[in-house]
Amino acid sequence: MKILPENKKGSYRILTTIILIMLFSLNFIFFYTSSFAQSAPKCEICGKYIYGKYWRSGGHTFCNDCYGRSSKCHSCGIPMKKYYKVEGKKFCRDCYYHRLPRCAKCGKSMYHYYTRKVREGKTYKYCKKCMTKIAGNCTICGKALLGKKCIIKSNVTGQEKEYCDKCANKAKNCFHCGLLVAPKDRPLPDGRYICTSCRRKLIYSENEYHGIYRQVRNQFRKLGLKVNHLPQLNIVDLKELSRLNVSDGKSGDKVVGDKMGLYKCTKFYRNNQNGKTKITGIRGRIYILNHLPRDIAYWVMSHEYAHAWYEERVTEQKGLIIVEGFAEWVAYHLLLRKGYKNIAKGLTKRKNIYGKGLRYMIDLQKKKGFRGVLRHVTR
Ligand SMILES: [Zn+2]
Ligand SMILES: [Zn+2]
Ligand SMILES: [Zn+2]
Ligand SMILES: [Zn+2]
Ligand SMILES: [Zn+2]
Ligand SMILES: [Zn+2]
Repeated sequence: MKILPENKKGSYRILTTIILIMLFSLNFIFFYTSSFAQSAPKCEICGKYIYGKYWRSGGHTFCNDCYGRSSKCHSCGIPMKKYYKVEGKKFCRDCYYHRLPRCAKCGKSMYHYYTRKVREGKTYKYCKKCMTKIAGNCTICGKALLGKKCIIKSNVTGQEKEYCDKCANKAKNCFHCGLLVAPKDRPLPDGRYICTSCRRKLIYSENEYHGIYRQVRNQFRKLGLKVNHLPQLNIVDLKELSRLNVSDGKSGDKVVGDKMGLYKCTKFYRNNQNGKTKITGIRGRIYILNHLPRDIAYWVMSHEYAHAWYEERVTEQKGLIIVEGFAEWVAYHLLLRKGYKNIAKGLTKRKNIYGKGLRYMIDLQKKKGFRGVLRHVTR
């Protein structure tokens, strides 16, 4: 035995390890049986005894010919006589039954799959066919939501709609409800983008607006909310309404408005002998955005008309929670009576001052009753 110097011994050991790792990582190890061998191995595919080159792996043996000719398993690389096809790829029996994941719905083996979180931390795997059925569809293009999706909540009804990433990236938000607008829906002349579901309910005639105004006044009477002056109804576009909203203060008129409607009034006062201010007259106007969806027009009109009731009775400034909360609370009751339950429910969930004010009034009503709210806001 030749004695190697210590450092050389070390490098031989490393080299041998590397060669061994390389051989095993190839999975298949190449062998040779001489034609004089006592017992020759048998090829698993053609069934013949092998003399000469052959291949072995994990208990499988193949002659060189079969190894070269056969299709190999897409997952483990083993040559196969019989194979199972999944999504156009060939797999051996073992891989098909044990290594490939199975669809949680139809139970079929899958190569490509989609995962879906069912509950916190728990995910299921589905095949494309099953996922297409359970994934839901994009509200705009209608395609199954297999990839990334975007969920948007209507700021009118609070309902959620789902969109594919592609549509979500290029669509504009609906002016009325905040949902996404399909590219085929062109904006109104004043620049408002309207979604398909709002578009179906748009009002195009001034007569219809006046009809809704009459309905709203009737409902106020039924609720015992008497408004002594008749505010003039003005139907305007977005540009006009925005202009009116900022012109507050200059004329001394009182303006309460938001992006869809506005109540404006001039009040006449008289000071009593005991120093109290009394309202002697009031002239009001309601401005409402044109081309509103029917239900939204009903809500905005009820809200603005409630301002008219309030302004007849109140002389001093109160916070927005009271002023807007009250108008929204009256509108909320009118919407419920009219059967517009989704909008009414949506109003209670809004995070802005209108939502806050409405929740405050609903709580107050629970404690003090309907009349109690009226007394509270006007005292
Ligand atoms: Zn063979
Ligand atoms: Zn395999
Ligand atoms: Zn499936
Ligand atoms: Zn889409
Ligand atoms: Zn909309
Ligand atoms: Zn208001």
